[in-house]
Amino acid sequence: MDFELTKDQEMIRKEVRRFAKTEILPYTAEFDEKGEYPYEIMEKMGKLGFMGIPFPEEYGGSGGDWVGMHLCIEEISKADGPLGTMLDITTSVIGQELFVFGTEEQKKKFLIPIAKGEKIGAFGLTEPDAGSDAGALSTTAELKDDTWVINGTKQFITNIGLKNASIIIATAKIIEDGKPGNIATFIIPKEAPGFELGKKYKKMAWSSSATHEVIFNDCRIPKENILGSAEKGFAQHLEVLETGRISIAAVAVGLAQACLEEALKHAKGRKQFGMPIYNFQAIQFMIANMGMNIELARNQYLKAAWLKDQGKSHTFEATVAKLFASEMVEKAASDALQIHGGYGYMEDYPVSRFYKGAKILQIVEGTSEILRMILGRHLYKAKF
Ligand SMILES: Cc1cc2nc3c(=O)[nH]c(=O)nc-3n(C[C@H](O)[C@H](O)[C@H](O)COP(=O)(O)OP(=O)(O)OC[C@H]3O[C@@H](n4cnc5c(N)ncnc54)[C@H](O)[C@@H]3O)c2cc1C
Repeated sequence: MDFELTKDQEMIRKEVRRFAKTEILPYTAEFDEKGEYPYEIMEKMGKLGFMGIPFPEEYGGSGGDWVGMHLCIEEISKADGPLGTMLDITTSVIGQELFVFGTEEQKKKFLIPIAKGEKIGAFGLTEPDAGSDAGALSTTAELKDDTWVINGTKQFITNIGLKNASIIIATAKIIEDGKPGNIATFIIPKEAPGFELGKKYKKMAWSSSATHEVIFNDCRIPKENILGSAEKGFAQHLEVLETGRISIAAVAVGLAQACLEEALKHAKGRKQFGMPIYNFQAIQFMIANMGMNIELARNQYLKAAWLKDQGKSHTFEATVAKLFASEMVEKAASDALQIHGGYGYMEDYPVSRFYKGAKILQIVEGTSEILRMILGRHLYKAKF
C-alpha cells in the first residue's frame, strides 16, 4: 500500500494552493456578498488547465488523473466552495460524461472547450416532481425527422445561468409509440431554439454560484446530440454522479480545512480568563475532532479517486466519501463558529459564511438519506 502522492499530484496541490490563496481567497467574501460570479478567476483557472486535469491532451486536458483533479477541487474549495462545485459539475460530471460516452465528434465539439476551461457545463437531472427519485422525470424527447424535440422543466440547475456555460446535459424520456419510454441523455446547447433560462433562485448561501430553472419549450437539437445509449442514459448519468460524489467530498474537505484553520487562528489569539481560549480543553477537543475527521474524510475521497484511476469499482467508497465528508463539514463549521463565540455570528468573520454554506453538501448529488440507502443495499449483498 502506497500513500505517497506522485510528483505530478504534489505539484498540482502546491500550485493550486498557491493560486487559491493569492488569486481567490482575497475576493471570496466580496463575491459572496454581491452574489457575483468570479469570471476572471475562472478564466485564469481555465488557462492553468484546472478543468482538464483528468482528460487526455487530445481532448484539451493535461493527461493527469482523478486523484490530481480532486486535490485541485479540495484546494479551490478551501478558498471558495462555489468555485469547487463549479469544477465538480464541469469536469467530474459533464466533462467525464462526454469523455466516457461521447462520440469522437461530440468530444471534439463539446469536451475540448470544457477541458480547456473556455466553456463550462451544467447537468439537468432534477425536476419539480423528480428530486431524489430522479427516474420519475417528466421531460420528454421526441425524434421528428432529424431533430429531437425536448419538452419539460429542470430545476435547481447549477452553472447554467453563467455566461460561459455552453451546454446542459439533461435526461429525458424518449417518446416511443406516442408514450414516454426509456430515459436517454441529451446534449442541449444554450442557444438551441426553445431553450429558456428560467428564474434564478435566491439561496440561503453560496450566492456567487448561480442556480436556475431551465425550461425546454419545443427545444430542438440535432439527432446526433443524444449522448451514449438511447436505452441506458439514466444509468450513464448515475455512473458519472459517482465521481461527482467524490468531488463533493473534496469540496467538503476543503471547506472543513478552512473552518479548522480559522478556528485555530481565533482560538490562539482570543484571550479570556487571562489566557488564549486554545488553552481550554473544551476548545482543544473541538479542534482535535475537526482535525481527526478531516484527515479521515480526505483519506476516503483520495481512496475513492485512486480506485477510479485504477479502473476499479468504487461505488461504496465514493458514497462513503460523500456521506461522511458532507456530514463532517457541517459539524466542523458549527464548531468553528462556536469557537468564535459571538464574533462567529457576525458576517465579518468567514466562519459565518462557512456555516451557512456547508449544509448544501448533504443535499446535492444524492442526499444523505439516499446515500445511506445505497450503502444499505451494498452491504446487504456484501460477502465478508
Ligand atoms: C443549490 C442547489 C444546486 C443544485 N444543483 C443541481 C444541478 O446542477 N443539477 C441537478 O440536476 N440538480 C441539482 N440540485 C438538485 C439536488 O440534486 C436535489 O435537490 C436533491 O437531489 C434532492 O431532491 P429534492 O430537492 O427534490 O428533495 P426530495 O427528493 O423531495 O427529498 C426531500 C427529503 O426526503 C428525503 N427522501 C427522499 N426520498 C427518500 C427515500 N426513499 N428514503 C428516505 N428519505 C428520502 C430526502 O433525502 C430529503 O431529506 C441542486 C440543488 C440545490 C439546492
